[in-house]
Amino acid sequence: MQITVLKETQADEARVALVPESVKKLVGMKAAVSIESGAGAAAGASDADYEAVGATISRDRATLLANADVLLAVNRPDESDLNALKSGAVLIGFLKPLDEPQALKPLLARHVSAFPVELIPRSTRAQAMDALSSMAALVGYKAVLLAAEHLPRIFPMMTTAAGTIPPAKVLVIGAGVVGLQAIATARRLGAVVEGFDVRAAAGEAVRSLGAKFLEVDMGGESAEGAGGYAKEVTEETMNKSRELIAKTAKATDCIITSAAVPGRAAPLLITEDAVKAMKPGSVIIDLSGATGGNCALTKPGETIEAHGVTIMAPLNLAATLAVNASQLYSRNLTTFLSEMIQDGALKVDLTNDVVGPACAVHAGEAKHPRLQGVI
Ligand code: NAD
Repeated sequence: MQITVLKETQADEARVALVPESVKKLVGMKAAVSIESGAGAAAGASDADYEAVGATISRDRATLLANADVLLAVNRPDESDLNALKSGAVLIGFLKPLDEPQALKPLLARHVSAFPVELIPRSTRAQAMDALSSMAALVGYKAVLLAAEHLPRIFPMMTTAAGTIPPAKVLVIGAGVVGLQAIATARRLGAVVEGFDVRAAAGEAVRSLGAKFLEVDMGGESAEGAGGYAKEVTEETMNKSRELIAKTAKATDCIITSAAVPGRAAPLLITEDAVKAMKPGSVIIDLSGATGGNCALTKPGETIEAHGVTIMAPLNLAATLAVNASQLYSRNLTTFLSEMIQDGALKVDLTNDVVGPACAVHAGEAKHPRLQGVI
């Protein structure tokens, strides 16, 4: 069984799908691993590091693709790469199955099996395979550092001979994995933190990190959908949320926002009026830029200034921590892939409780319910 890792082609990408530590494990499972030369360079792994643990290094991308039984990727490879995979090959990576389903269409004709890591169940058993959580934790941490760097004030309270500086006030919108890590990091830096989410269950987690939980009266409506994810809420709840955020924003120095509903456009929670009401020099870090952003003024991938407020919407913060992000992602992939390896051979069993739900397409058919009839 041939496992292949290519150099990522996306401009801002520095992560690699497998680090040497994982290659060693896979070689121990009797798999052959081939790495495109330079694939790990930006994540701290040299060709020699991979060779030392039993991988083969190649510069011939076309041959690597043609021979791959399993292609492990960070981002979805280009269409030309997808079209170079052989029939029966397995592709695993961030494939955006719900946001860009049509891009998976070429895999149907080629009978490639695709397992987007976004579809791996968020179950207790699959926790060690949860690539979304791995990346989210790093993104939440980095977002706070970014905010701290751009804010013209400090986070902690500081008592000096010239007087006392009050702590910065941070509002974290969306208390999923990103938001909770942002709350924990901002608290560690000494900020006073408030957290907001439509899932009532998030309240306990927010409070346990020493932050205040902001709640809207949802009139008995539950925002908790399948798998613990949020579902879309009514326009009335959205309006109440926007009002609460606008009111809180007036006294907030920094907003870190990552509210999301899987497969939907990001909920619009910060209006232009809310931005106008913020103090000059305030910072908004919008981590939902890839799906449109939580702030009305967000320009995905850009940093802008509006009404004296800096609004940043970085699209790939995990790549700025490529060493740790690759380590975690590589471990997630290796644990997931080991569910498909038996005696060194590839065995795709869709009755497996993790492998089955994570399958987008297989043997020329769309397998995931959200893709059936769509591609
Ligand atoms: P996500 O990235 O899909 O969304 C981020 C947050 O935005 C969520 O907390 C969501 O409730 C919130 N949100 C959505 N619409 C909103 C709105 N209109 N206003 C305010 N907030 C809004 O979430 P995630 O980080 O991937 O986590 C989703 C869920 O999965 C959480 O309940 C999390 O605790 C759970 N989870 C479970 C496991 C596990 O058991 N293995 C692992 C990771 C996450």
